[in-house]
Amino acid sequence: MTAHFALAKTQRYAIVEARIVRPAGQASLPLDGEGLAKVDIVVEDGRIAAIAPAGAQALGETPRLPLANRIVLPPFVDAHTHLDKGHIWRRAPNPTGAFPAALDAVASDRAANWSAADVARRMEFALRSAYARGTRAIRTHIDSIGRQTRVSWPVFDAMRERWRGRIELQGSPLFPIDRALDDAHMADIEAMIDAHGSNLLGAVTFMIPRLEEAIERLFRLAERKGWDLDFHVDETHDPAARSLDVIAETAIARRFGGDILVGHCCSLTRRNDEEIEPAIERVARAGLSVVSLPMCNMFLQDRLPERTPRWRGVTALHELKAAGVPVMIASDNVRDPFYAYGDLDMLEVWREGVRILHLDYPFAAWAPTVFATPAAAIGVDAAALSVGAPADMILTRARDFTELFARPHVDRTVLRNGLLVEEAAPDFAELDDLEGLAP
Ligand SMILES: [Zn+2]
Repeated sequence: MTAHFALAKTQRYAIVEARIVRPAGQASLPLDGEGLAKVDIVVEDGRIAAIAPAGAQALGETPRLPLANRIVLPPFVDAHTHLDKGHIWRRAPNPTGAFPAALDAVASDRAANWSAADVARRMEFALRSAYARGTRAIRTHIDSIGRQTRVSWPVFDAMRERWRGRIELQGSPLFPIDRALDDAHMADIEAMIDAHGSNLLGAVTFMIPRLEEAIERLFRLAERKGWDLDFHVDETHDPAARSLDVIAETAIARRFGGDILVGHCCSLTRRNDEEIEPAIERVARAGLSVVSLPMCNMFLQDRLPERTPRWRGVTALHELKAAGVPVMIASDNVRDPFYAYGDLDMLEVWREGVRILHLDYPFAAWAPTVFATPAAAIGVDAAALSVGAPADMILTRARDFTELFARPHVDRTVLRNGLLVEEAAPDFAELDDLEGLAP
């Protein structure tokens, strides 16, 4: 990656005249019209030693990197991904782009190809991509069905160790909710989470005859173990899909003490207006956090042959935020049958999220959806630029939000512990042998 900023090779240096989204607890930093604060940031021994309004602190002989009003971001937190599924598009294409075809294509590819080595190679590729783009923490869902469960979890565990200190990795099991009623399946899940997991249990929820019972089984297991919960919820256009309500009601009734993250919730916006409000109030009361996956939703939802889509597929993020629900956006699938594109680049997710979900006006109010809110929701160190924190940051060439979202900024400069990350995102050709192309 070409660094546009020449970093001083010293233990102490200052990044001056940078514009940042003001972190919580730093109300003394004055804001400009866009909600950005113009600051000088002192880096010392790999940590942020000081942040002050530009020009307000004496820097003496400290070497300076002048940013001339360019935006500096904290590292990203990606709260919902599928590292085990990624980069299989070429050998498992989705012939129509539709949801049922995606399920079928993944199931076939999983049965045929997901050895430990195959899963590990694709996970590693994905993590290198995310790291080069400035992501510090990722939660991935792990397909946990049949024999795959015992193949993928040890791979995840090894990958988490391998990447410790660079990307904090969490794993949540993924299986259709009806499997929660299968004792043998659940024993397998419990064993794998005990051995390799992240104190985190999850499933894909949709309408089945014994939905309440199945969801309650997961809550009971999570309570017994002290685990958090993470669900894929109502990823459909069908307004009759109400598993979100069942999760919220169960959390309230059981006074569940852990954290619950719910993803997708697409069909919420397909209900009548008078039904949306009480549902959101229940989500808020239950203490759920909501992650929207705008790129994947836009790809899969409202897709019918030879018909132009009318609906963006995303959930009611504005209304949820207004009700006090922590809301965020994340990558979801990458180059697999559920989403043909993507690269685990959270700046792309943010940029597309701004466009698809109108996360603008004011831009700065929505910025936490890719930083502090997902950090809090998945329980990793708050992703904010703060004194004493590691000097992990992303230097962009953008001077305001329209410049930030006008371009992909693949030329951004990523710092970790005050040092330049020199690794670029890997070349797709590295996966050719896995994708059925000649090596
Ligand atoms: Zn997902």
